[in-house]
Amino acid sequence: MGMKDKREGESCPEACQAMCCRYVTTKIDAPRTKTDWDEIYWFLCHEHVEVFIEARKWYLLFDTPCRGLDGRSRCVIYSTRPHVCRQHPSENCEYWGEEDHDKVTLRSPEDLKNYMKRRGLRLRMAWDDPDTATAGGKVAPRSPVRTNRKRQTRRSKE
Ligand code: SF4
Ligand code: SF4
Repeated sequence: MGMKDKREGESCPEACQAMCCRYVTTKIDAPRTKTDWDEIYWFLCHEHVEVFIEARKWYLLFDTPCRGLDGRSRCVIYSTRPHVCRQHPSENCEYWGEEDHDKVTLRSPEDLKNYMKRRGLRLRMAWDDPDTATAGGKVAPRSPVRTNRKRQTRRSKE
């Protein structure tokens, strides 16, 4: 899909209902070990949490709107909005920008299992076999937030 045509007089939140203000995302390390894959599985067991892979980088996404949005999808804390929002490029944002056809989005544990299957990853995870988990093979999850910070900025409202 190419760039959408920006209609004259159309402002950001009216056009897209402030898509970029309705989630939080942070970069995470690409999973390498069984513990890493288990952690991804743990993330995806939660509602409103996604993991996506873009340009070979991994991100965690929380699908939750900003408290700064009003009922008309406008930012009511515009003058004190975070720096990350001020830097968000509207010309290449989620709504106006080019779609990345190589982007992979995992929205559920099933998505993860299918992704691992497609990649030929046969790791014998605890969640593949309930007997393994009861035998003590279950891996304890670590903290979901790692050291790398935000994937991208948020677009400010004009
Ligand atoms: S920057 Fe893009 S995604 Fe964000 S409010 Fe404007 S049009 Fe919507
Ligand atoms: S611009 Fe930033 S602070 Fe304002 S509503 Fe959007 S995400 Fe929230």
